[in-house]
Amino acid sequence: MNFSSKLLENAVNEFSALPGIGQKTALRLVLHLLNQPNAEVEKFSNALTVLKRDIRFCEVCFNISDHPVCQICNSIKRDKSLVCVVEDTRDVMAIENTGTYQGVYHVLGGLISPMDGVGPSDLTIDRLVERVSMGGIKEVILAISATMEGDTTIFYLYKKLKDSGIQISTIARGIAFGGELEYVDEITLGRSIATRIPYENSLAR
Ligand SMILES: [Zn+2]
Repeated sequence: MNFSSKLLENAVNEFSALPGIGQKTALRLVLHLLNQPNAEVEKFSNALTVLKRDIRFCEVCFNISDHPVCQICNSIKRDKSLVCVVEDTRDVMAIENTGTYQGVYHVLGGLISPMDGVGPSDLTIDRLVERVSMGGIKEVILAISATMEGDTTIFYLYKKLKDSGIQISTIARGIAFGGELEYVDEITLGRSIATRIPYENSLAR
C-alpha cells in the first residue's frame, strides 16, 4: 500500500497490527477517525490510555476488574464453592450472558501452548491450585475450548487437582463448539454447563 503521508501510514500500521484487521480495514478506520471532531478522537485515544493504565485483574479470580476484587467474587449471591475455569475474560462474559450460572470463576489468562511458548507458569494455574487448597471449593468446572491447547490445559489441570478431593467437571464436549467458547450461543452454552460431566467420564470414552 502506497501512502501519501507518513502519519497516515503509521496510524494504519498500528490498526492493522490488531488481530483480524487487515490493511484495507485499518485504512477505513483511520480515515473514519480523521473525519471525526478532535474531541471524539481524543475520547477514543483516552479510553485506551486510561484502560491500559487503570485496568486491574481481580485478586481472586483474575477477571478484568475496576476494583481489587471483582463484582462477581464480591457478590453474596454467588456460590463460592463452584468455580468455573476459563481461558479469558471473553469466556466469563459469554457465560455471564447465559444468565444461568451462579458460581464464580477462575481466569487462566490463556492456554498451555508449547508451540507459542506458553507454559503452565505463564498462566494462573498455581493460584487456582492454591485457591482449591484453601478449602471451601466443592467443584471446579473446566469450561475450556475443545482445541489441542484446550485439551492439553484441561489434562494438566486435572492432574494438578485430581488428588484434592473436589469434583472436576467438563462442559459437554459432544456439541459443536466451533472451537471457541465465546462463539457458542447462550442457550447451548448455558445447557452445556448445566449438563456438565465428571472429567473422568470423558477420559473413559
Ligand atoms: Zn473475581
